[in-house]
Amino acid sequence: MNLIDGKATAAHILENLMTEITQLSHRPGLSVILIGNNPASQAYVNAKIKACNKIGIYSELITLPETVSEDYLLEKIESLNQDKNIHGILVQLPLPRHISTNKVIEAISYQKDVDGFHPINMGRLAKGLPALIPCTPKGIQELLKFYNIETEGKHCVIVGRSNIVGMPMSVMMMQNMPFANATVTVCHSKTKNIEQYTRQADILIAAVGSPKKITGDMVKEGCVVIDVGINRVQNGEKYQLVGDVDFESVAPKTTYITPVPGGVGPMTIAMLMKNTVEAAKMINNLL
Ligand code: NDP
Repeated sequence: MNLIDGKATAAHILENLMTEITQLSHRPGLSVILIGNNPASQAYVNAKIKACNKIGIYSELITLPETVSEDYLLEKIESLNQDKNIHGILVQLPLPRHISTNKVIEAISYQKDVDGFHPINMGRLAKGLPALIPCTPKGIQELLKFYNIETEGKHCVIVGRSNIVGMPMSVMMMQNMPFANATVTVCHSKTKNIEQYTRQADILIAAVGSPKKITGDMVKEGCVVIDVGINRVQNGEKYQLVGDVDFESVAPKTTYITPVPGGVGPMTIAMLMKNTVEAAKMINNLL
């Protein structure tokens, strides 16, 4: 079993980006909008701003109250779309119920959509055209590349079909390109006997949101396991972060596995930085 070190890989990518940024004629800029005071969202946003500061991306955090109107938010996004110093706009999800997530995502200029959730970016990704790609699946593909894990002709089973992880991941893994070209199966909450699919996986990607859902008896010997899950579970008095994979029973059967924390999580932030730099280059015609 080899541990895939997402923390070290992300640090390496961030270092390269830092050098690249010093050579750009325009400093990339990211604007992050945080609505309300959900502690998990606050923690994610802080980590994103910290990464910007570390590698030289200009960043601004816009905090708005839970009660902010949809119209106000859409106007704010439009002003950022016009702002020449801003190349990436990220609205931290989830949004309060009275605001339409789809409307907000579609209001962001697709060229500044560093989360890769805009239908134009999703459509371009599906067609294999250059696009801003959602950060978590992009980070997973980077890990496969970094560890030179063969994917061509392999059976990749993805558990989860969200627009953020599972669905774009499935599109990427089936594309005719390096570190893809897999045969892809997507499982979800309506899949019957999920273990009959997971046991066939050469590469298993778990993005379920259910602690230790994938157990040792559900995987085959020699597989590669990517654990996307971040679940906060109570352990006595304390809270602990656990993945969607039961590491203890699964790891001994794998050739490669990502830990939680320190696997996919750090890569997601690194890819947000990469997307911001790519967006800045695209907007300034440097690509
Ligand atoms: P969602 O809740 O949006 O999607 C979960 C998916 O899992 C859905 O497709 C759902 O099916 C499926 N699912 C739920 N229960 C089961 C089950 N019992 N059996 C099979 N499939 C099931 O979550 P996300 O995709 O946003 O996130 C998944 C996990 O990854 C979470 O733990 C999240 O915290 C983590 N995450 C981690 C990131 C990182 O950077 N490491 C980034 C983003 C997410 P259905 O569609 O039928 O409802």
